[in-house]
Amino acid sequence: MGETREKGYRPELIEARRQAAWRERDAFRTPSPAQDQPHLYIKPSAPFTSGNVHIGHVRSYSIGDAYARFRRARGDAVLFAFGFDAFGLPAELGAIAGGESPSEWVARCARHMTGQLRRLGFSFDWERSFMSSDVIMYRWSQWLFLKLLDAGLIYRGTGNVDWCDNCQTTLASIQVEAGGTCWRCHGPVRLIELPQWYLRISEYLQENDARLHERADSGKWDEVALASQQIVLGRIDGVELELRESGGETVTVFTPHAQALGRARFVLMSARDGRADAWATAPGVKEQLEQLRSGGWERSSREAETIPVIDTGRVLERADGQTLPVYISPLVDSRFGATVVLGVPSEDRTDELIARRMGLEPAGAEGDEQADLDAAAGERWGARAAVRYRAFDWVVSRQRSWGTPIPIVYCESCGTVPLSAEELPVELPLDIKPTGTGNPLAEIDDFINTTCPRCGGRARRETDTLDCHFDALWLWVPVCVPPEARADSLDEIFALADLRYWLPCERVVAGSDSGNFVFDQRTVTKALRDIGPLDFLSDGEPFAGCLFHEMVTADGRKMSKHLGNVVDPDELVARFGADTVRLAVLYAARPQKSLNWSDSAVLRCHRFLTQVWDYTHATIELQARERAQPTTDGPAVDDADEPVRDTTEHLRLKLTQWCEAGVGRLTTDMEELEMHSAVRNVMRLFDRIKDFDKRVRAREGELRGANVEAAIEALGVLAQALGPFVPHMAEELWIDLGHEENAAQTPWPGVSLELAV
Ligand SMILES: [Zn+2]
Ligand SMILES: [Zn+2]
Repeated sequence: MGETREKGYRPELIEARRQAAWRERDAFRTPSPAQDQPHLYIKPSAPFTSGNVHIGHVRSYSIGDAYARFRRARGDAVLFAFGFDAFGLPAELGAIAGGESPSEWVARCARHMTGQLRRLGFSFDWERSFMSSDVIMYRWSQWLFLKLLDAGLIYRGTGNVDWCDNCQTTLASIQVEAGGTCWRCHGPVRLIELPQWYLRISEYLQENDARLHERADSGKWDEVALASQQIVLGRIDGVELELRESGGETVTVFTPHAQALGRARFVLMSARDGRADAWATAPGVKEQLEQLRSGGWERSSREAETIPVIDTGRVLERADGQTLPVYISPLVDSRFGATVVLGVPSEDRTDELIARRMGLEPAGAEGDEQADLDAAAGERWGARAAVRYRAFDWVVSRQRSWGTPIPIVYCESCGTVPLSAEELPVELPLDIKPTGTGNPLAEIDDFINTTCPRCGGRARRETDTLDCHFDALWLWVPVCVPPEARADSLDEIFALADLRYWLPCERVVAGSDSGNFVFDQRTVTKALRDIGPLDFLSDGEPFAGCLFHEMVTADGRKMSKHLGNVVDPDELVARFGADTVRLAVLYAARPQKSLNWSDSAVLRCHRFLTQVWDYTHATIELQARERAQPTTDGPAVDDADEPVRDTTEHLRLKLTQWCEAGVGRLTTDMEELEMHSAVRNVMRLFDRIKDFDKRVRAREGELRGANVEAAIEALGVLAQALGPFVPHMAEELWIDLGHEENAAQTPWPGVSLELAV
């Protein structure tokens, strides 16, 4: 106040001023652990260094930031920071396109995105942000790999990958064109078999399932997040029973169709089930299984009609004497996991296709007799309730150069030798220039040639790198570590009080496509609990709460450059200001609904903020005039010095009640991250203030004395309520209303914040 200020709502000036003030007072630095202060870690998603912040990021971070600011406004200590997910194929492709090294490319992208996010005013603690491709950070992946390997949770297996003969490289699924050709040379792509490193998640599926019920009961996981975990888990309830090979072994088979046991026609075994080899013994069958595993099938053969089904030539017998042929096929895995199931063509379309392909007799007509048989069969044949999970072990290695080197060497005499923790990190050469052919790492002699840590003899480094999905397993942890401790050994880091203080994370806020990440993070947390470093998380759950929001679409379609329907946040911010854009994404839809973009939300929110700004300043001017030329305190006085009956007292009372009720509703909304409803309640609060103004003027012709003060009071509450959503404007209003700027954030109504220390 006092100095000359621009007239009217000028977001570009207000936002620049506030952001400078926040930097000046280091507003969003994570407080040091102090046990008596309520504290929480809010985890935003770790953005890919794609080069650009898109409107989906804006939505995600606007939700998380509003929650972070709300909690700070109530006096809580908040940790709100992220690491860039900087390894992986998109960076390699970006580097190829830009003719630079991936490390240069990701650094440039991260700088640009940081600038965009700062301009939006998100209250991240940038001191704690990092890139997963920094050597001090990716040693976390190497450390985790060794811990999990040691615990038997990482193992060497063989897997099928897409391979281009021309480019001499493996391809990710997004690099395979619709017709099954290579993205780069358009040549044919085939599946080949390669040794791969797998993460054994099967160990923790049951616990993840059971703990999910606890998550649901806590009320801190929203419906989209819970559903995503169920989808990844892929729990199937059914029955299992034993079948016997005449004179041979028994096999436990599963089916979800407990009421149709009598209609089973065959047994289907996953090629990844440990028992498959014992069954593929007949002449020719073993070879077929080997061929199937080595991916000797065309890439196009991926439909139920064409995926190989091997007839073992052997049969299993049901208790009623019915014999069922035993087949082996990958068609089990995606439906039931790596297991053995009954084929029930009458109940399952895939089973029906298999039966037809294998020339089985169609199932008999479904008469009463059959139904009676089914009903009785379960008990008679010893069926018991059972569960299977579709989620299966996944491959953590990739034949790519831009990733964390796997801390393994191959020694001529010792074989496969893991490095020890003291030998970390294995540094990734920074001068690699991927071209899309081969694996550049395999061509760098300095990298490949090494000595064996066990015998000192000649050894060769693993040239596969870790999938960036593996980095994501720990990406949520390092922000809990104070930056000055970041270079310590990981054993020291895990002993820090900071981790115990901030974990578990109070809330993840991420897109609904993060289900896999969160699932695997939950799995690995349980592993690290059992191994030791995270033993203080007794339930093995990294996230106490989780909010998944849906995407931002345009005309009901996904935004894409290809469709030309991309909304550019920079453009919107330049035109309307960051506060308007942030408010609009919260206003337009509940987080759990997809947000169909329309400019009308932006226009509506911009109009609202302009009105709040103008009205507040007009009232502040009124107050200044009143104070310069005071009427009596309270009601107006007439010429005869006779006090006029105060006809507006009940209106002031009503305004106070409206404010209290509004703040109450708003507080509940914020605690539950119902930002959409919260924004509406803030808008309603402003309507109430205008309503008060109108009624007073209807009675008295103008706003004076105690009524001005009442309006100013209410506008102060409004500024506080706006704080989490439009932080720049809210703080500026708060100051203009005569309050101090302090701490990180305008205080929540009714809260007084101590000056930040
Ligand atoms: Zn190719
Ligand atoms: Zn050796």
